[in-house]
Amino acid sequence: QRSDDHPAQNGQNLRSPICCIMGHVDTGKTKLLDCIRGTNVQEGEAGGITQQIGATYFPAENIRERTMELKADAKLNVPGLLVIDTPGHESFTNLRSRGSGLCDIAILVVDIMHGLEPQTIESLNLLKMRNTDFIVALNKVSNLVDRLNGWKTCRNAPIRKAMNQQTKNVQDQFNGKLKQIRGQFMEQGLNTELYYKNKSMGETFSIVPTSAISGEGIPDLLLLLVQWAQRTMVKRLTYSNQVQCTVLEVKVVEGHGTTIDVVLVNGVLREGDQVVVCGLQGPIVTTIRALLTPHPMKELRVKGTYLHHKEIKAAQGIKITAQGLEHTIAGTSLHVVGPHDDLENIKEAAMEDMKSVMSRIDKS
Ligand code: GDP
Repeated sequence: QRSDDHPAQNGQNLRSPICCIMGHVDTGKTKLLDCIRGTNVQEGEAGGITQQIGATYFPAENIRERTMELKADAKLNVPGLLVIDTPGHESFTNLRSRGSGLCDIAILVVDIMHGLEPQTIESLNLLKMRNTDFIVALNKVSNLVDRLNGWKTCRNAPIRKAMNQQTKNVQDQFNGKLKQIRGQFMEQGLNTELYYKNKSMGETFSIVPTSAISGEGIPDLLLLLVQWAQRTMVKRLTYSNQVQCTVLEVKVVEGHGTTIDVVLVNGVLREGDQVVVCGLQGPIVTTIRALLTPHPMKELRVKGTYLHHKEIKAAQGIKITAQGLEHTIAGTSLHVVGPHDDLENIKEAAMEDMKSVMSRIDKS
């Protein structure tokens, strides 16, 4: 387990943790993301609407509000939480930053009715390989029903409150499933426990029961994610002036030309910064023309509704416009040229990513 020595203190200069959602197909990864976002991407996608930027940013204030019922005194030392929009292990494997995983923490979604499935095990192996901490979302609790009563919906309620509203029969079913699934994790060599009973997080992985349809357990999940990250990853989350930034996608956008969607993992980007990215035909040296993001907590998919920024601090998903980005290779790092940097060295560093990206493409 990753663990830094110092507990987080108020006023510490931390960046937002980056979270990835993993798990078997149909366990509710997309729905869970929608639910924590409070939007409905699934239906949107059906109508041809797509995400504009590869991640959703949740300001700490928003998390505080939504978790009020759970813990009024929640101390959040990070500015927010950044959740990667594409669930699944492709994005987890491809999203790298300086050779290591881009995600600081993950949500592993398990369907309470199905338990561990083949892609759950694959996800587990990837998480172990990258040494990435994760929290289990035991999803679809609302599918627990007894013969006479269905699940009583308690929209967006903390899970213990919601569970207390259920019949004894539903609670018994829940406990039965939970026991079974903890056994399955044990077979994979992992101790798990309901998060509010977990006295040794780090050794024992926490389980948060959730419903991505009606939102039970979502406050618990959000709070646990942020608090766990800020408590155990202080070193990793400490804000640095060294820019760490990964290109997610290269896209042509009307009125902007070829743009790149990036995740700024650490540091700050400014309009006018000279940057170097890895291109198919060699390093691309260019200048940031605009730094764009959608409005916080809103899905702005209407053209021309980006927010422009003079500068952006990590961690954020950002769209960058600049000249000459056409042949940028997704999955590589963006480098900023500082006043004392040697451009040739940076160009070389930028092209080093090419090898690892190409070897991943070969394998897939
Ligand atoms: P993904 O493949 O893991 O992204 O799964 P989806 O988010 O697409 O969900 C698969 C199906 O399960 C969809 O029909 C969802 O509506 C349904 N689903 C997801 N979460 C829940 C939940 O918490 N409760 C119930 N009852 N259904 C869910």
